[in-house]
Amino acid sequence: MSTLEIKDLHVSIETESGPKEILKGVTLTINTGETHAIMGPNGSGKSTLASTIAGHPRYEVTSGSITLDGEDVLEMSVDERARAGLFLAMQYPVEIPGVTMTNFLRTAKTAIDGEAPSLRHWTKDVKAAMEDLKIDPAFAARNVNEGFSGGEKKRVEILQLELFKPKFAVLDETDSGLDVDALRVVSDGVNRAQDTGTMGTLLITHYTRILQYIKPQFVHVFVDGRVAESGGAELADRLEAEGYERYEAAAAGA
Ligand code: ADP
Ligand code: MG
Ligand code: MG
Repeated sequence: MSTLEIKDLHVSIETESGPKEILKGVTLTINTGETHAIMGPNGSGKSTLASTIAGHPRYEVTSGSITLDGEDVLEMSVDERARAGLFLAMQYPVEIPGVTMTNFLRTAKTAIDGEAPSLRHWTKDVKAAMEDLKIDPAFAARNVNEGFSGGEKKRVEILQLELFKPKFAVLDETDSGLDVDALRVVSDGVNRAQDTGTMGTLLITHYTRILQYIKPQFVHVFVDGRVAESGGAELADRLEAEGYERYEAAAAGA
């Protein structure tokens, strides 16, 4: 079992009027085999948390820690994070002209594992994963993300998840822009990866819709840069019914 541990994390960004603190003491522990949902209103800092785990240079950690099995993640480069087993969807959302999906996936897999996958298995694995995710085989020859629709990008995100087999996956708004069919395909993919028991998932979302398809064991309400409350799956149902106002009012009064 592996553990991703976030302790009292404070993160600032540089703005025109000086540094602004976005994360104000986030504490969270995720083990492989667990699914945690982070839910919160727009602007509460959810994507900042994801970007900080990913190592985005814009976000400055002013105090606190992120460790993976005791190793300091904050000291790692973005590539080292991937090799250590962190999968962060937004690491690869960009268009890469002239690089086909096939080449991109194999290059990334090689970088993550430290050795090239056996070609025979790899070709089979890619084909099977693409079928599972109902991705058109013609995709393999297309350039990375070039002209991909929102739904296609999400499927490719989950394709990477299935092929790279990370220890921890951080999925930020994976449900946004998906119709119900695509949502189901994407959720099935996450659930398949989850079912291996060797992955932990941090599912970041504003809406409860995706939680009909991916069941978290833990739900954290995220408000004003920190976790305001943690609970089980029932907490998501309560948020669906009641919204975030109560938490936002409490945060504003704090
Ligand atoms: P969420 O994902 O919960 O909607 P974000 O992490 O995107 O929240 O944003 C949290 C706060 O940080 C917001 O007030 C947002 O305006 C601000 N913020 C985040 N990233 C940037 C950025 N790159 N430049 C300016 N403000 C930012
Ligand atoms: Mg936002
Ligand atoms: Mg966001």
